[in-house]
Amino acid sequence: MATTKTAVAPMRAAQISKPGGDFEIVQREIPKPGAGQVRIKVQACGVCHSDVLTKEGQWPGIQYPRVPGHEVAGIIDELGVGVSVWKQGQRVGVGWHGGQDGTCLSCRRGDFRNCRNLKIPGISYDGGYAEYMVAPVEALAAMPESLNATEAAPLLCAGITTYNALRHSGAFPGDLVAVQGIGGLGHLGIQFGNKFGYKVAAIGRGSENAALAKKLGASVYIDSKSTNAAEELQKLGGAQVVLATAPSAKAMSELIDGLGPNGKLMVIGAAFDPIEVTPMQLISGSRTIQGWAAGTAADSEDTLRFAELSGVRPMIETYPLEKAGEAYARMLSGKAQFRVVLTM
Ligand SMILES: [Zn+2]
Ligand SMILES: [Zn+2]
Repeated sequence: MATTKTAVAPMRAAQISKPGGDFEIVQREIPKPGAGQVRIKVQACGVCHSDVLTKEGQWPGIQYPRVPGHEVAGIIDELGVGVSVWKQGQRVGVGWHGGQDGTCLSCRRGDFRNCRNLKIPGISYDGGYAEYMVAPVEALAAMPESLNATEAAPLLCAGITTYNALRHSGAFPGDLVAVQGIGGLGHLGIQFGNKFGYKVAAIGRGSENAALAKKLGASVYIDSKSTNAAEELQKLGGAQVVLATAPSAKAMSELIDGLGPNGKLMVIGAAFDPIEVTPMQLISGSRTIQGWAAGTAADSEDTLRFAELSGVRPMIETYPLEKAGEAYARMLSGKAQFRVVLTM
């Protein structure tokens, strides 16, 4: 009896097969895009601290095995049914916002960023630690030609988070904006803040990063180990915004007194311990504390275009896909300068 053999083209992917499991490099069938989706030939994928959620099973409802990755840069390789605006061969990025349901109250109000059923690449479906991935069109950001894939990848989560938080912070050109933490988020926050026309005060622990912070565009460097950073900010008139990027609630709490009148602590560094603040600290000077999470694919596109225009670029360390485990460990160590990126 004659049988038809379907040729199954394999691809390599780095997957986690159970919560707390190690990275496994596996051969998988190349996925087909469904209606309203595209397939992307991945060129680079950033390793973000939030990949811990997939690795350790800290997000409710993750189905395993799962391929992490939500800082994806690549080329559209196949279109699903009904996709008209995007083209084969087009360069695109995919970030934290992996698609919205379009039906919840937030979506009906046009607030897709806060969709109740937000889909996240690498959590809700397989992400970019692979040679190919499938994404819905709502997750796609067009990528400018001048950005290479490895530099664009971190802009799709770390970049958009700092860019979008700052542009919605209420700070105007010339205002004093402090960036707490000089790491994966902070080194981008300093650059964006400088290009937005703020007077940027970079706050780090120790003097090691002072020269780098200045090079990235900070006007002032404050060493929070040897000085009281809040007092230093007050000497400069008080910060309009403190962009809190280092995941330390204690360090964030210590900066609230550095805010000027109507100042805002903008929180983007994900920590789980409580920020300590007294009502009086907020009442005097009408200060506020706000959190911010990434943004939509259109916000990602704005971030990429602004980076192209202004020259903002992440500092990266690259690893081949096969070394996903090593790359992830490097990211977790906190020693990377500053974002780790996988290349396919
Ligand atoms: Zn991320
Ligand atoms: Zn929704």
